[in-house]
Amino acid sequence: MNTLTLFIIYITSAVVLAFWNRKKGHGFWLGFWYSVVLTPAIGFLTIAIAQQVVVVDSGNVRRRSCPHCYNLTAANVTFCEVCGKHVAHQTAKQYLQMAELFVGLAVTVLLVSSVI
Ligand SMILES: [Zn+2]
Repeated sequence: MNTLTLFIIYITSAVVLAFWNRKKGHGFWLGFWYSVVLTPAIGFLTIAIAQQVVVVDSGNVRRRSCPHCYNLTAANVTFCEVCGKHVAHQTAKQYLQMAELFVGLAVTVLLVSSVI
């Protein structure tokens, strides 16, 4: 396989993962850039672990589930209307924490395998 083929497979995987991420309620571009920057393997694991966000679209009102109390709150608020906790950027923060975890794990494996 040449570099171009690998590149196309890489980007296609990122796009597929981005659609999956959007379906789970976390947005297309977060999933796409996450998979591009951190490889689709880490993107896959993170999206698989990420909680499903329920988005309810009733006419002109969009509501989403809160990651803390699981009640429905307005989709565009920073703080949950029910429990008062921060909901905006919550997913991005969780994703970054998972990225740290996976990168830390990869570094550990590399270090251990270089010692052995
Ligand atoms: Zn809440």
